[in-house]
Amino acid sequence: MTTVANPARHAVTASQDTHPVFDELGFPTDTNNLYRQTVGAMLHAADVMSLPHYLKIVLAQPKNEIMVNFPVKMDDGQFRLFKGYRVQHNNALGPYKGGLRFHHDVHLDDVKSLAFLMTMKCSLVGVPYGGGKGGIKVDPRKHSSGEMERIVRRFTAAIAHQIGPDYDIPAPDVGSNAQHMAWIADTYTFLSEIGGHNPTAVVTGKPVEYGGSLGREKATGQGVVDTLCEIIPEIGLNSATCTFSVLGFGNVGSWSGKIFQDKGAKMIAVADHTGFLINEKGIDANDLAAYVSQRGGVAGYAKANKCTKEEFYKCKVDVFIPAALEQMIQEPEAEMLNCKVVAEGANAPTTPAGERVLQRRGIEVLPAILCNAGGVTVSYFEWVQNKTFQAWDLDNVDAQLNRHITQATTRVRDARKKYKVDMRTAAYIAALERLAKAYEVRGIFP
Ligand code: NAD
Repeated sequence: MTTVANPARHAVTASQDTHPVFDELGFPTDTNNLYRQTVGAMLHAADVMSLPHYLKIVLAQPKNEIMVNFPVKMDDGQFRLFKGYRVQHNNALGPYKGGLRFHHDVHLDDVKSLAFLMTMKCSLVGVPYGGGKGGIKVDPRKHSSGEMERIVRRFTAAIAHQIGPDYDIPAPDVGSNAQHMAWIADTYTFLSEIGGHNPTAVVTGKPVEYGGSLGREKATGQGVVDTLCEIIPEIGLNSATCTFSVLGFGNVGSWSGKIFQDKGAKMIAVADHTGFLINEKGIDANDLAAYVSQRGGVAGYAKANKCTKEEFYKCKVDVFIPAALEQMIQEPEAEMLNCKVVAEGANAPTTPAGERVLQRRGIEVLPAILCNAGGVTVSYFEWVQNKTFQAWDLDNVDAQLNRHITQATTRVRDARKKYKVDMRTAAYIAALERLAKAYEVRGIFP
């Protein structure tokens, strides 16, 4: 196992599971609560850098938590009631920005956590946005295209007065895609007072034919690989000879795999909600992505062997890319992993207890707010193009993305050196520094 270049003095400790702010704000007492865990990492960083107390409490809670319940007619003529969310965490640096998750098991605390992470991510990569997130409690796989269209349009109508191109700009996340974003933009166009102007900028991740940006679909995966290419030489790895495994082979996982493979790296193992696959000789990410788009999952792919969960996690690779859901790398998974670097493509995939195990074992963790920030960065480019009636070419998008990721990585590296902390704490410190400056000059009014 490798030892990291800059061993952390302030490593993740069990004390992060508790903090006076949790009691002050009445947080859930369950230490497995995702929101508590996510905010806990920020509070740890805030303590290390001596952030003022008022900022800790302001950032520990979202500004607005919107919940809507709306009826939709199904194909069989029956009505069903759906629950939707939009959480607006913070807008000190710009309009709220963040994806919409369509998942049968999405809860308010998940959405709050993801909105919080967006505030931190946007600040870290230097895009002029705050953080937001939303979702609908729905399993898109269980609905016809017609039902999904009615669900998405009705949800848009329900939150139309709480979003807007200069106020809150949704985007895709787990279970949502470019077609859904097109329906949101189209619905918003009809409902908003700015209908005749430039309403498509209300949402990003749209199809390229309807105001989307080249490079947005692959952007999060591109950012994961750009981050890896910046960091791994420091720990003696070379992308041209790297091996890797991927958990979750949807948008983020498949694009991370395809782009890392283009750099010469070899994918040895992959998993999603349908199963686990392994092939020591390598699995072609392009071929597998084409298979998954036809079959809905990796199960049954003939050019790799089915394996168990244990075999998947224990598979020896240089880089492990979690790109599925939250809290999937807990203590048992962290004990099993046989890698040098975890590159968090997913949001909050590693629990604090899991991270303590990874740190003890000398495994470097590239935190989500840095590693998966490519998506929101190119969403920002899409929004800029919409607002200025431009269409950038792909080379420009990729170059600008790389510039943002490189600069953010430098800021994380600097914070790490200055405070002698792990990468996650350093990333939060770099994000908090920008937010703290904004609050300092803005003040709190009235
Ligand atoms: P997606 O819906 O395209 O893919 C999700 C993947 O996770 C699928 O392959 C699915 O099979 C897999 N999965 C779900 N449950 C699983 C389970 N129990 N075990 C194994 N695999 C499971 O979603 P996505 O857009 O790729 O998002 C993945 C992660 O990346 C999420 O955490 C999301 O918040 C984050 N993220 C996405 C973007 C983006 O631009 N799409 C940007 C930043 C962060």
